[in-house]
Amino acid sequence: MTRVITGQTRVVGVWGHPVGHSRSPVMHNAALAALGLDWVYAAFDVPPARLAEAIAGVRGLGLVGVNVTVPLKELVPPLLDTLSDEARRIGAVNTIVNQDGLLHGDSTDGRGFLKALTEAGQPELYGQRALLLGAGGSARAVAFALAGEGCTVVISNRTEQKAQALADAVNREFPKRASVAGWGEDAGCVDLVVNATSLGLSPDAEAMPALPPGVLDTRPFVYDLIYNPLETRLLQAAREAGCRVSNGLGMLAWQGALSLALWTGRPLSEMPIAAMMQAVSPAVPKQGL
Ligand code: NDP
Repeated sequence: MTRVITGQTRVVGVWGHPVGHSRSPVMHNAALAALGLDWVYAAFDVPPARLAEAIAGVRGLGLVGVNVTVPLKELVPPLLDTLSDEARRIGAVNTIVNQDGLLHGDSTDGRGFLKALTEAGQPELYGQRALLLGAGGSARAVAFALAGEGCTVVISNRTEQKAQALADAVNREFPKRASVAGWGEDAGCVDLVVNATSLGLSPDAEAMPALPPGVLDTRPFVYDLIYNPLETRLLQAAREAGCRVSNGLGMLAWQGALSLALWTGRPLSEMPIAAMMQAVSPAVPKQGL
């Protein structure tokens, strides 16, 4: 079926640098079709040096809003009019909403992760103990999301100072919820392991994050933010150890659905999550928001 762009068609999209690999246009255009909206979702390669001009363009051209991905997420907050608590907390924005020229920034990564985790069969988080691998942008969103649900989070990252800085930031907001373990070192008994590093991401699919010895023995739930490949070496090892596992496809779809709910002003329950999952599920050639 040919997509007809009319004089009424409104534009929404994703910015990144590079952005050509992004799965978001496929996923969001499937969602827009399912919702019957006369909107189109496009990818824009925005180098960091042109970010301020791009932001002015949202107002000037009356775009509905945009998703923002690597390496722009952390650069966007100071350029917007208002920020959600979550975006302020993690210092990053993945969704800009144009409210009649007033630009609001939000981050849907943490809520998308929680939604995906629940759907994957890990609904109870209060009082649980999680090992979070990584301390980059997505790990920040996951750490605050888990701590906000009453989970204690042990953060382990190759660069330990970054793990400590993230734990300190989480503890300022949620006292005593975060601590640090050395990379590959003992983290105690955990209920949940989350990989928020890029280790295992295609084309380096043989790579695997360093796990504390015996951490899979107690069969924690293992969530890998990576979805290309669909089963990383970490997930394979966890599955073989008898753990329940999930890849990052659910998070990709839910953070997108949450963005769409913000742009449309409709409830999350009306977002076509199945169509979005289906659009990105088959063979995912590359990964990225
Ligand atoms: P960042 O670049 O912000 O962080 C990368 C993390 O990976 C850091 O903790 C870094 O450690 C670690 N890392 C990278 N290379 C190595 C290595 N060789 N050895 C040990 N650690 C390493 O990336 P993001 O947080 O944005 O993304 C992380 C992953 O999450 C990616 O695979 C991304 O595709 C995925 N993702 C999935 C989403 C989804 O919706 N499913 C959403 C967002 C991200 P160090 O600090 O030491 O450099």
